[in-house]
Amino acid sequence: MSTQSNRAAWFQGGEAECDIKPGARARAFRLVLLGPPGVGKGTQAELLCQSLGTCHLSTGDVFRAASCQNEPSPALKSALDAMRRGELVSDGLVVSMVQERSGCLSCSGGFLLDGFPRTVSQAEALDELLEREGVTIDAVLAYELPLTEIVDRLSGRRTCSKCKAVYHVSARPSLKEGVCDLCGGELIQREDDRPESIRVRMRAYEESTRPLADYYSRNGRLVSVSADGSPEAILERSLKELQARATLSRS
Ligand code: AMP
Repeated sequence: MSTQSNRAAWFQGGEAECDIKPGARARAFRLVLLGPPGVGKGTQAELLCQSLGTCHLSTGDVFRAASCQNEPSPALKSALDAMRRGELVSDGLVVSMVQERSGCLSCSGGFLLDGFPRTVSQAEALDELLEREGVTIDAVLAYELPLTEIVDRLSGRRTCSKCKAVYHVSARPSLKEGVCDLCGGELIQREDDRPESIRVRMRAYEESTRPLADYYSRNGRLVSVSADGSPEAILERSLKELQARATLSRS
């Protein structure tokens, strides 16, 4: 049985329910992924979710899904404008969006947060939300990679316009150029993967997100992982690190 859910509660918020019943998974993992844009967090998130059977909760995915709405609210519109420029969306808006979905944090299937938190203030808000929901984070996996490699990965990245599968023009090409192997959708370059946006995103990461590593290392939750090599090699490294922390054997 597949343990992957359609993540309706995460994508739609409100009363939406996922197609997987709570308790369907043997063990709930609660993880946060950190790392600069382009380090391969999204790919690792997918692979980790397949291995651990937990849910991939990406705030960027929620914004991208919302960008298809015909009449976005003024707050959402300004968030989407910030996103297109490669800037961070305001803490207030992101936190209230996660707050509306806080059921996903206490879901017995666990979670893997990708792209949230991105600032210390968001991390503090997440800690408060988790405390309220009565759950704790097992580990914060922080992926590290040299800047030159990051720029290469981002500028070559292509995303399926339909199912959001991620490819790379040289490292992970689709079988047919420009076409998704999984659903036949058109492969596109995300607006924020263009060179001018990449520079802005890297600056935002250095200024706002890197301090999070200190935040999480202070209370022993940080696990640094090299993001060098193939996605499978990085996954193996990540699982070993989790095992070393004995998170895999906890029930
Ligand atoms: P991602 O897919 O995680 O790279 O997110 C894409 C874009 O969505 C980012 O460049 C931001 O503009 C916005 N975004 C996603 N998550 C957050 C967050 N936690 N805080 C601020 N902005 C965010």
